[in-house]
Amino acid sequence: MTIAIYPGSFDPITLGHLDIIERASKLFDKTIVAVLRNPNKSPMFTVQERLSQIRLSTAHLSNLEVDGFNGLTVNYARMRNARVILRGLRVLSDFEMELQMAHTNKTLAPEIETVFLATSKEYSFLSSSVVKEIAKFGGSIDQFVPEHVALEIYRCYVKTQPGSTPTLPALDLKSNRSETDPLL
Ligand code: ADP
Repeated sequence: MTIAIYPGSFDPITLGHLDIIERASKLFDKTIVAVLRNPNKSPMFTVQERLSQIRLSTAHLSNLEVDGFNGLTVNYARMRNARVILRGLRVLSDFEMELQMAHTNKTLAPEIETVFLATSKEYSFLSSSVVKEIAKFGGSIDQFVPEHVALEIYRCYVKTQPGSTPTLPALDLKSNRSETDPLL
């Protein structure tokens, strides 16, 4: 049984990530999407929020697990008996850093292989940062992230930058509001 881990920040999950996850679920017996708890970054969403977003987006995949981890990716991979670290490649600029990471991980854990999946061409420009930047300036992100994630991003900007809310037909914040929602 081949287990792959797909580590990353996923802050937030995009359709580019989801595409890699769906393709991985056909290639490996089990894929674990592993959200890194990185104390050096100030994320938009907490790890708990990101885990929930990914779980909701991948509910249709049965051989998938979503988990959080700290520390070295190879240590987490070993703990989960994973033989593969999966990464996505978009543009040439990804390659240098990804190759360096792959070589480092191979040195630390020779039994674990890094496998790269090339982005699907419609998502080659897409990153979590691009999505956040578009939303920040009031643009529509509905075609870049799952619907529930788009709503959560819009809510964040309503909270932090009142007045800069995107004027989108899809953005009906009231109807998505729960009694206990602390963000609205
Ligand atoms: P990290 O901070 O580890 O790069 P990300 O969440 O940005 O975390 O990315 C996780 C992985 O998903 C990386 O391998 C990245 O290259 C890949 N990835 C991100 N966006 C896309 C996309 N649009 N298409 C394919 N792979 C992607």
